[in-house]
Amino acid sequence: MQTKIFTVDPENTDAKKINECADILRSGGLVAFPTETVYGLGAMATDKDAAKKIYSAKGRPSDNPLIIHIASPADAERYAYTSELYYKLASAFMPGPLTVVMPKKSTVPSEVTGGLETVAIRCPSHPIARELIRAAQCAVAAPSANLSGSPSPTESAHVINDMNGRIDAIIDGGCAEIGLESTIVSIDGDTLTLLRPGAITRDALLCVCETVNIASAVTEALKENERPLSPGMKYRHYAPKAPLALIDGEQNDVTEFLIEKSKAENCLILAYDEEIPLLTGVKYIGVGARQDLESQAKRLFGALREADERSVDKIYAHLPVKDGIGLALYNRLIRAAAHTVITVTKKDI
Ligand code: AMP
Ligand code: MG
Repeated sequence: MQTKIFTVDPENTDAKKINECADILRSGGLVAFPTETVYGLGAMATDKDAAKKIYSAKGRPSDNPLIIHIASPADAERYAYTSELYYKLASAFMPGPLTVVMPKKSTVPSEVTGGLETVAIRCPSHPIARELIRAAQCAVAAPSANLSGSPSPTESAHVINDMNGRIDAIIDGGCAEIGLESTIVSIDGDTLTLLRPGAITRDALLCVCETVNIASAVTEALKENERPLSPGMKYRHYAPKAPLALIDGEQNDVTEFLIEKSKAENCLILAYDEEIPLLTGVKYIGVGARQDLESQAKRLFGALREADERSVDKIYAHLPVKDGIGLALYNRLIRAAAHTVITVTKKDI
């Protein structure tokens, strides 16, 4: 298949190109497009055959449900049984990087929800995403536009790398601003459960809802035979080809440990800006300043892809703090590392 590539300026969207992409969606095709979180791979949310094409283009297991994207929060009425809490969340965080799981209506085929009776809904803020959904005149089902298991794409080059020849079109709209996928919550009466952390933090959610539980799969490995609340949590995710280990400990000990490891192994470090001058003789990719969690979030997936291109045998990264957007970084890294954490103390060096 020949994949058409459209370059669109997010600050001055081109209606002709957007309409052409919306036509592709309406005729059952697949279009990858930028959002503020990561690039999405879109299909009409009410078309089960189009949804099936998403699963096959990505190589995604069919029980891993898709998020459906709407142009305005009230459009959720067409697809889900909403509630007062949904509208509270909508007025605080939409359009933006929040996905809400609610009971689904029959307009959403079960192919889209991986057979679940609930549907995940998000109203993105990215101008290209919004224009595309509006022009399609239907919700757009869109998981991240990467091959299943690889890091999510944060720029068009990543999407082209994974999807060229597999889908109808890609809209190149520059770099994703946030770089990690949306926060996902499910609503249960008056309480929220955080299924996947993202840029909308638990503290921000607590301003709208008194009780925000965190699903155990956010930070812990799933137990044998455990059914996760969010099916995507059971799959290997975000992983580079080389094994990744997370390092915890005092900064000086960690730096020394990384220098010693680099002498013994063909490894690469995802390094904080501050430690780069200290890492003599070490292969590294900078991921931002230690305290700058937003930059680290934005860089993470690109850095994991770049690490693969450098043909190393092992990758080391710092174990993030679990505060604020750090919880989202922690969740992605711990899963990319298959929960491998090395705690470094002086005696290990
Ligand atoms: P992706 O768009 O690739 O980031 O994947 C979307 C993720 O949203 C899936 O992996 C699921 O874990 C989650 N999700 C989507 N729909 C539901 C749902 N109905 N209930 C719980 N989690 C969901
Ligand atoms: Mg994904």
